[in-house]
Amino acid sequence: MTMLKEGRPTTPQALTKADSAPATATGNRALMLEEALIFEIGSTETTGVDFAEAPEVASRLGDLARTDSIGLPGLSEQETVRHYTRLSRQNYAIDLGLFPLGSCTMKHNPRLNEKVARMPGFADLHPLAPQSTVQGALAVIHELAAWLVTLTGMHSVAMSPKAGAHGELCGLLAIRAALEARGDARSVILVPESAHGTNPATAAFCGYKVEDIPATPDGRVDLEALKGRLGPDVAAVMITNPNTCGLFERDMKTISDAVHAAGAFVYCDGANFNAIVGRVRPGDLGVDAMHINLHKTFSTPHGGGGPGSGPVVLSEALAPFAPLPFVEKQGDKFVLVEEETAEDHHGQTFGRMVAFHGQMGMFTRALTYILSHGADGLRQVASDAVLNANYILRSLDDVLDAPFGGSGPCMHEALFSDKGLAEGFTTLDIAKGLIDEGFHPMTMYFPLVVHGAMLVEPTETESKAALDQFILALRSLAERAKAGDEALKGAPYFAPRRRLDETLAARKPVLTWTEPALAEAAE
Ligand SMILES: *Cc1c(COP(=O)(O)O)cnc(C)c1O
Repeated sequence: MTMLKEGRPTTPQALTKADSAPATATGNRALMLEEALIFEIGSTETTGVDFAEAPEVASRLGDLARTDSIGLPGLSEQETVRHYTRLSRQNYAIDLGLFPLGSCTMKHNPRLNEKVARMPGFADLHPLAPQSTVQGALAVIHELAAWLVTLTGMHSVAMSPKAGAHGELCGLLAIRAALEARGDARSVILVPESAHGTNPATAAFCGYKVEDIPATPDGRVDLEALKGRLGPDVAAVMITNPNTCGLFERDMKTISDAVHAAGAFVYCDGANFNAIVGRVRPGDLGVDAMHINLHKTFSTPHGGGGPGSGPVVLSEALAPFAPLPFVEKQGDKFVLVEEETAEDHHGQTFGRMVAFHGQMGMFTRALTYILSHGADGLRQVASDAVLNANYILRSLDDVLDAPFGGSGPCMHEALFSDKGLAEGFTTLDIAKGLIDEGFHPMTMYFPLVVHGAMLVEPTETESKAALDQFILALRSLAERAKAGDEALKGAPYFAPRRRLDETLAARKPVLTWTEPALAEAAE
């Protein structure tokens, strides 16, 4: 068996050996502990807490009142802790290693953010507390808003949307309100092929007809096709910039000018803002609305780690239609404007998107991140994000096809395709191999414009040593897939579960824990 410098076994023989190790009676393998579903190990008779018998109260639900148990399994406190701790050890996390998911910006969440968010003055606030008692929290929202407006060169910002896709909804509702206000009903939203999937979904959710704009061979919006389609029925264009091919849309200003000339609005998907923060201001490019994912660019945890937050910056034309509530500074006081009054100067809000003010915990973390970096540090973020992605692109473009490698440097993500892999080998095999190498797989089969796409976003927070380790793994897998190494088709060998039958899982999902369903699933 050959060993890499790092001591990782790589040959098929090594893999087969581990695979054929004798089974243990428990299914556990030392520190890798098996864990059954909670519905298999728990019982409705058990509970980890000792409540006094609830007093009888008259039900006001009438016939709707439930008379039987809903069958939730109970465990003792220790069993509960072990159950979730064991499951958590089978999971991958940014605190364990590099998370190359393209378009997700899975980067380090600085611990300083957590420390500040946990300060009792922030953590213990109630959203209904009187405004005079939460002036500090309102000041945080106000200051973060000012940073976002400055960094994007836009007119104002709606802070309440709770994720990127929610921000897209906010932007489109503002655009619709602006069009309705001028009595201009328009029905179509144009979405380039290189846009994120949430863009057409949002447009359709808002009741618009979605039309594709093709990409050019170099991975950018086809400007002529876009111009050719603009007309009085087009409400807006939704452009992801940098786009999901990892490229900057160089014609953005020309696009915006053409869209505005046709009476429509420009929505920019700003999820990839970490690639341009401090370097480009979307406001200068003619953008009317853009969401910012605080959980991506500004390092607040996401995925299993926490909720998202998607403030939307708005142009002067859209600002009057922004949602409620918003924070305003009046004299030396911060005021949460919850309702627009007749004499209000803000105009025609489209309404409210959330019950309260947005994701306060994420505002606190994002502002901590911004202040700890400062303007110069944020500029450095963009440089490092782009440098790291180009390092990966150029370190691997001799073994993996880079479809837009000839279009110049990439932005924050490196895009590869499955072209050149041996017959029968796919992007999926490489992704499964990465699991054995101790990495979360990259984004697969997205963007759709590239066959067998592998989209890698290392982010700015990875060191050169971490990138080199990842490159070593991906290079080895690419070489094996090109050489037709059959053993790769069996990966992952070392994960808690082997390769799943994805077709069966999609066609016959087991979504219930009843005994018969579990028995059938086990067959
Ligand atoms: C992540 C992402 C979104 C959606 O953001 P959520 O916060 O996950 O709703 C939209 N567009 C792009 C380009 C993204 O990367």
